[in-house]
Amino acid sequence: MNNSIIVIGAGAAGLMSAGIAASQGKKVIIVERNALPGKKLLITGKGRCNITNTADIEDIIKNIPGNGNFMYSALYTFNNNDIISFFENNGLLTKTERGGRVFPASDNAKDVVDVLYHFCLTHGVQFRYQTRVKQIITDQQKRVLGIKTEEGQELSCDSVIVCTGGASYKGTGSTGDGYKMARELGHSVIEPRPSLIPLIAEESWVKELQGLSLKNVEVAFFDNNKRKVYSEFGEMLFTHFGVSGPIILSASRHLLKYNYNNVILKLDLKPALSIEALDLRIQRDFEKYSKKIFKNALNDLMPQKLIPIIIMLSGIEDEKPVNQITKQERHRLVNLLKGMEVNIIGARPINEAIITAGGVSVKEIDPYTMESKLVKGLFFAGEIMDVDGYTGGYNLTIAFSTAYVAGTSC
Ligand SMILES: Cc1cc2nc3c(=O)[nH]c(=O)nc-3n(C[C@H](O)[C@H](O)[C@H](O)COP(=O)(O)OP(=O)(O)OC[C@H]3O[C@@H](n4cnc5c(N)ncnc54)[C@H](O)[C@@H]3O)c2cc1C
Repeated sequence: MNNSIIVIGAGAAGLMSAGIAASQGKKVIIVERNALPGKKLLITGKGRCNITNTADIEDIIKNIPGNGNFMYSALYTFNNNDIISFFENNGLLTKTERGGRVFPASDNAKDVVDVLYHFCLTHGVQFRYQTRVKQIITDQQKRVLGIKTEEGQELSCDSVIVCTGGASYKGTGSTGDGYKMARELGHSVIEPRPSLIPLIAEESWVKELQGLSLKNVEVAFFDNNKRKVYSEFGEMLFTHFGVSGPIILSASRHLLKYNYNNVILKLDLKPALSIEALDLRIQRDFEKYSKKIFKNALNDLMPQKLIPIIIMLSGIEDEKPVNQITKQERHRLVNLLKGMEVNIIGARPINEAIITAGGVSVKEIDPYTMESKLVKGLFFAGEIMDVDGYTGGYNLTIAFSTAYVAGTSC
C-alpha cells in the first residue's frame, strides 16, 4: 500500500484524524471493534456533547491539569475556534452556554457523530467494524508495518494512528487495549487512573440521602493539614456510596494526587448567607415555629430528605420544643448548614470515570506531530495519551486537536 494509514478506533479522535488524513489524499482505513462509530461520543454531555470551550488557549491549557503544556503546539495548529468552524462548515450549528461550553445547537450528540462520520465517508475513509486490533506490527528498525487483529488477520500500512481512548465506560469499547499495544512497542504507560469520578464517603448516613440533588451549594475540599484544596459553587448529588454531580466530578480531578482519600468535603448548604445572616434567618424561623418541636421547624430551610440527617448531626433532640433550643444549639445548627462535613475515602472504579488520567507518556510523543519518538510511523491521538482535562469540553478539545495534528502529520 502507498501512503496508507490505519486508524485504530472510530471515536472522537479516530474519526477526526481519519477524515483529516483522507482529506489530504491519504488512503485511510478505520478499524473499530464496535458495530458503529462514536459510541462514547453519543453519551457525552448527557447526550448533548460538549464539543469544546470558547476559552482562549492559555485558559484551555489551565483547564488541562494532566500535561496541559503538551497541548500548546496542537492547540496553535487546531484550536477550539477551528473545532467550531469545522463543525459549522460541515453543517452543524453550534451554541455556547454557561462557562463557554459549546454544544451542537440541536442538543444532540448523534449530530456530532454524523458530521464526523460523513466527513470521513466524503473523503473515502473505509470503515472496518467489529474488528478488534490486538497488535501493531513493526520491523527490526522499529518502523510500523501494519496491524494484527484478534482473529489473527494482518493488514499492512505505512502509518498507524492509535485512537483507542481511555479505560472507562468499557461498554463503549474503550477497554484500554491501546495501552497494551503501546507497551509492547516499548512505550511507557503512566498508570491509568479514574478522573472526573464520583467520590465515596465514609459516613453511612449518605445512603439515606441517595437521590437528593442540591442546587446552588458550595463544596470545599480540605487535605489532612486542613488546607483548602478546591472549592466550587453549583449542583451536586448524594448517592448510595457518597457524592456525585457536576461540581463533585469537576472537583475530583483536584483530588487525584491525594488518591481520593483522607480528604474532607465541607458542604455549604447556604452559600448566599453569611453565618450571621443565616443565624438571623433561623431565629426568624424559630420565632415563626416557636410552638412546634425542632423536627417540624426546619421545612423552610432545607429539603425534607435532609432534615433527619441534619437533626442527627446537630445533636439537638428532634422532639425538643423550638422555644427551648439554646443559643449554643442554634449556633451548632448554623455551623452545620455552613459546613456539613463528609469524609472522602475513595473514588468509584475507573469504569465509571468520565475520563482516564494517565496513559501513554507524552515524553515519548512528539507534540508537533503526535508521532511516537520510539517507533516510526506510529501516532497517537486522544485520551490514550497521558493528557486529561476538567469538564467543560476540554477533553474533546484534546481529542479533536491532537487528532487533527496526527491526521495531517502521518
Ligand atoms: C459519560 C461521559 C460523558 C462525557 N462528556 C464529555 C463532554 O461533554 N465533553 C468532553 O469534552 N468530553 C466528554 N467526555 C470525555 C470524552 O468522551 C473522551 O475524552 C473522548 O471520547 C476521547 O476520545 P477518543 O477518541 O480518544 O476515545 P473514545 O471516544 O473512547 O474512542 C475510542 C474508540 O476506540 C475503539 N477501540 C478501543 N480499542 C480498540 C481495539 N483494540 N480495536 C479497535 N477499536 C478499538 C473503541 O471502541 C472506541 O470506539 C465524556 C466521557 C464520558 C464517559
